[in-house]
Amino acid sequence: MAIASIKGFRDVLPAEAARRRAIVDAARGVLEAYGYGEVELPLLEKVELFSRSVGATSDIVEKEMYAFEDRDGATIALRPEGTASLVRAYLDAGLARAQPVARLWYGGPMFRRERPQKGRYRQFSQIGAEFLGREDAAADAETLCLVADICAAVGVRGMRIQVNSLGDAACRPAYREKLTAYGRSVDLLLCDDCRVRLERNPLRLLDCKNEGCRAAMEAAPLMIDHLCDGCRDHHAEVLSLVLSAGVLLEANPRMVRGLDYYCRTAFEITAEGQGAQDAIGGGGRYDGLVAALGGPDLPGIGFAFGVERMQLASGSEADADAVPLAMIAPIGDVAAPAALALARRLRQTGCRIDLESPRRRLKAQMKQADKVGARFVVILGDAELESGRATVRDLKAQKDHPSLFALDDEAESIIAALGCVE
Ligand SMILES: [Zn+2]
Ligand SMILES: [Zn+2]
Repeated sequence: MAIASIKGFRDVLPAEAARRRAIVDAARGVLEAYGYGEVELPLLEKVELFSRSVGATSDIVEKEMYAFEDRDGATIALRPEGTASLVRAYLDAGLARAQPVARLWYGGPMFRRERPQKGRYRQFSQIGAEFLGREDAAADAETLCLVADICAAVGVRGMRIQVNSLGDAACRPAYREKLTAYGRSVDLLLCDDCRVRLERNPLRLLDCKNEGCRAAMEAAPLMIDHLCDGCRDHHAEVLSLVLSAGVLLEANPRMVRGLDYYCRTAFEITAEGQGAQDAIGGGGRYDGLVAALGGPDLPGIGFAFGVERMQLASGSEADADAVPLAMIAPIGDVAAPAALALARRLRQTGCRIDLESPRRRLKAQMKQADKVGARFVVILGDAELESGRATVRDLKAQKDHPSLFALDDEAESIIAALGCVE
C-alpha cells in the first residue's frame, strides 16, 4: 500500500508551484516598492503567543490550532496566522525601541485544523504585511493603496475593498452595550451560535451568515453611527486620502473583527472566483496588540492575503513549464560522459537544457524533444565524438546544422550560436 498525504494537506505540483511563485513574486515587487522588508518567521511558536493575540476563546485557538507538547514539556503550536509572530519578532529584535516605525512583511504556510471543504486546506499560504509604529490616517491610507496595488500586480479580477471603522476604547464600550441590548431584544430570533456570541462577543452578531440572524439584526445599531469625534475624523481622513490616490473603497458598516485590540480602520478584499462572500484577504488597525504581547504601547496596521484565494481570483489556468532551449541526445553509453559534461556547462548559463538517456534510440529521443517543445536537439553519436562537433537538429526549421559549434567551445558562445540560427 502506498502512503497518501494527511487529510487536509496536499502537494503542489510544478505547474501550480510556478503559478504560486509568480503570485508571491508579484506581491513581493509591490511590497519592496513600498519599502517593506521581508521577515522569515518560524513555523512553530509558543501556544501562549496565539492565546494572547488571537484570543484564548477564539475558534482558531480553541478548536483549530495544531498544538502539542514538545519533548521538553513546552506547549508549542504550528502557527495559525502570521501577525502575532511578526509582532513577536519585532519585539524580540528590539525594533520597538530602535526603529519603532517599521514596514515588515512575511509569507509562507499557516496551519488550521478546519473542517475540510472544497478548496480549503489545513495547510494554506499567506502573504501578510504589518506597518508598525504609526497611528495617523495617512498610514491607514498608504496600507489600503498597498492592498490595491498588490491585487493589481497579481492580476486579481473584480477586486473590491470594503472598509469600516470599529471605533476605539473611547467609543466602542458604549456602542457594545447598545448592541448587546438590541441583541437581547431579538434573542429569540437568533441562532444558537449568536446566543453565545451575544454574551461573549456581541459584535459578531453583525456578520452571522444565518438568514434569521441577518433579518433580526437588520435594524441593529452600527458602530459607524456611534464613533467618537476622534474616530470619525480619522475615518473621514482615511477615506479622503485613499480616494485622492485613486483607489475605490466601499463602505461596509457590518464588517467586524472579533478582538478588542482591533480598532478604527478594518477592511476586507473580495474578488471573483470565490465561493459565497469569501474574502481573499483582510486586515485592519490593531493599536493594542503590541502591548498585549508584552511590548510598549505602539500602534500598528496590517493585512494578510490567502495565496490559494488569490490563485482562484487571478485565474486558475496552469502556466506551462519553461520550454528547454535544447535537448542533448547522446547515442549510446560511449557518448554519455561528453553529453553530461556539455549539459552541465550549458546549464550553468541558466538556460534550460534537457538531457536524454544514452540508452534510448534516437527516434524515441526525438519524440521526447517534440513532447517537451525543445527548439533544438544536440545529437552526440560516434561521428560527433570523433569530429568534436555536435550535430544540431533545428526542430522548427526541420533541418540539421552539422558543425554549428565544437564541443569544447565556450558555453556562452554555444548558447549564442543556438540563439542565432533561424
Ligand atoms: Zn447567527
Ligand atoms: Zn472612538
